[in-house]
Amino acid sequence: MLDAADLTTDSKLWIGGDWVSPTGENYFDDLNPEDDSLYGRSAAGTSEDMRKAVDAANEAFGKYGSSTAKEREAWIIQAAEVMASMQSEFVSALIDEIGSPFNKAMFEFNKALSMMRAAAGMARQVTGKTIPSDYPGRYSMSVRQPLGVVAAITPFNVPLIKGVRLTADPLAVGNTVVLLASEFAPRISLLLAQVYEKAGIPAGAFNVVTGFGHEIGDSLTGHPNVPMVTFTGSSVVGQHINELCAKQKKRVTLELGGKSPFVVLADADLKKAAQAACHGIFLYQGQVCMGGSRIYVEAPLYDKFVEIYANAASNLGMGDLRSSDTMIGPIISERQRNRVRIHIEDARDKGATIVTGGNWKGNRCEPTILTDVSEEMTVCREETFGPVTAVYKVDTYEEALEKSNDTEYGLSSTIFTENLNKALHYAHNVSAGMCHVNASPVHDEPHVPFGGNGESGVGREGTEADIDAMTEWKWITIQS
Ligand code: NAD
Repeated sequence: MLDAADLTTDSKLWIGGDWVSPTGENYFDDLNPEDDSLYGRSAAGTSEDMRKAVDAANEAFGKYGSSTAKEREAWIIQAAEVMASMQSEFVSALIDEIGSPFNKAMFEFNKALSMMRAAAGMARQVTGKTIPSDYPGRYSMSVRQPLGVVAAITPFNVPLIKGVRLTADPLAVGNTVVLLASEFAPRISLLLAQVYEKAGIPAGAFNVVTGFGHEIGDSLTGHPNVPMVTFTGSSVVGQHINELCAKQKKRVTLELGGKSPFVVLADADLKKAAQAACHGIFLYQGQVCMGGSRIYVEAPLYDKFVEIYANAASNLGMGDLRSSDTMIGPIISERQRNRVRIHIEDARDKGATIVTGGNWKGNRCEPTILTDVSEEMTVCREETFGPVTAVYKVDTYEEALEKSNDTEYGLSSTIFTENLNKALHYAHNVSAGMCHVNASPVHDEPHVPFGGNGESGVGREGTEADIDAMTEWKWITIQS
């Protein structure tokens, strides 16, 4: 057994129930985003490694695909137990590998653990129906069958939540899995491999290849023995995967980027709205797909809201990542830091007001609130994926709804109001996959239909949605 938390050795790949070195023995530096120091050396898997992982998963499917619900339930319950015992390794990796402040790391660990537990319950839910037949004496029924090898591809920002959901759900319903982890979070995916290894999941049912998605991703998603891809990441990569899957008629679920609206009506509880708006865009320094990056406030409340919100944002902790007072940590990579910088500078140069923030401390960007943002500014429509949001004044509820829907994205949304009719009208009419009334747009639970529309994705995740997405119906009749 390899210790995936041991950072003194080069990491390996987990293929066919063995820890193996990458073909060609190439490794890359996995950096701690806090100061870009070396966190660990990770295996740069190749397309050849990816093919080996798919072969191993395909071979394992022969037996795993016909395992009983009782067996899969037990394996996943055991995986949850092992995971619970590895909390400190996971939390440390979430802090040092991807720059999560302690609270976000704990939130992610606990959420992922409940997703693992919920997945165990899926095994017995793979049910079919008896169907009345038009022919006398004919028994007609439907059954669900697993698909085969599922390709799971995860992003850097919630590598454990997505690492668990995108692998435990397919395993629970009888599929085998190859996980391609983000190149910014390889160790976290190896800790997950260690969980499944210790839980006794059969060899080959779960495999991890670390490396660079843009180099080796196609050899996974394009492999003829992979009938389904479940992907979370950027809209650009999602589009590429969607095209490839369409050509090969594969199933795909895509959870992509967002530009989620956050509406505050004149009757809203101002303090609670400002608090939720802080959580909604500054959690994990804004590197959250559901982030409320467009805030529409009705005119009578606008000035007061901006004042309270800016005050709350400027007091968010930017200290030690291991302190529970810290909300804002480092941005993941130089490329992403540039993106955040450009969004702020472009807005400022074109006339936006920086109400608070805009400055950097090392790799950390202060929580930044903009007003006077207009269409020609990049930040107006594009996802920043950093601690940056814009507040807009609107005159009516109708204008807030119209502006909310003026986007190519459609992931989450929020409305703050005491008016139930407007809240429900908004929830039904906002073009988003999720809507939260009087609460932060950043929210997820294991068993809800999680996902978005348009540029934010295709399909839904969650235990019920995944049973549908990750199994295939078969119709069987018996003539008596
Ligand atoms: P990314 O698209 O750069 O990378 C995501 C994954 O795709 C990585 O594992 C990467 O290695 C892999 N990849 C890259 N090229 C590939 C290819 N050609 N084929 C297959 N895989 C490939 O995204 P990121 O920067 O890691 O994550 C941030 C993005 O993810 C943001 O846009 C964010 O909104 C989105 N996100 C969405 C959700 C959601 O549930 N909707 C959740 C988290 C993050």
